[in-house]
Amino acid sequence: MNDCFRGYVLRTVDYKDNDLILSILTEDEIVTVLARGTKKINSKRKSLTHPYSYCEFEVTKSKGGHLALSGGVLLNYPSKVEKSLTLILLLSILSHYILNLNETIFGYYLFTTSLKLIEEEANPKLILLAILNEIAGHEGLMFNVDECVKCGSKKSIVHFSYDEGGFCCKNCSNHHQNKEYLSQMRILLKINLSNCDKIDTVTGTTNEVIIRLIEALEDRAGIKFNAKSMLLATINKED
Ligand SMILES: [Zn+2]
Repeated sequence: MNDCFRGYVLRTVDYKDNDLILSILTEDEIVTVLARGTKKINSKRKSLTHPYSYCEFEVTKSKGGHLALSGGVLLNYPSKVEKSLTLILLLSILSHYILNLNETIFGYYLFTTSLKLIEEEANPKLILLAILNEIAGHEGLMFNVDECVKCGSKKSIVHFSYDEGGFCCKNCSNHHQNKEYLSQMRILLKINLSNCDKIDTVTGTTNEVIIRLIEALEDRAGIKFNAKSMLLATINKED
């Protein structure tokens, strides 16, 4: 039986001497395909196994029930990814998250929108922040930066607290932070994949928010970020 579908190479795993097992992200599921011989230098199907490339895959179903790659066409390779270590690590973290996610439709939205922003050369740190905010929203961990988390007041906001989950007003907190920091927090925590290309400034607070969001997602949503320490070291270096 032959089948044909389009999708993104999300992960490759070595198998035997010359084979790869591909995890392919399609609109509604993640498909596992055995790609025989694709580790050989002269393999004609090698271009269908590059991580994050978008391809049309032709597969056959074996007697044992698994899918084997029989052909296909490379449709798009996100060449701009290689320009930035932040982008490489961001896609590594994102694909790891999607592989552990039950809802492929949300994963497909995250992945395709992120790749589009990368191709449009949006700021890598803002794409990363947008992804983290999207994941936080999906996991029910959004910080409230519209009102005081304790009393609901929209007036006299004086403090932002990661531990409290957002803004506090002057009646509910003894801490006071400057207005510029508070307005930056509001902007940064509202960045998502549909608005992040409209923001052009990255402030010093961006790194702090990225790090604290990763910590919050690990501690409170149990998400494990692979390549986390390398990503954190990289965002401190790259502007
Ligand atoms: Zn309050």
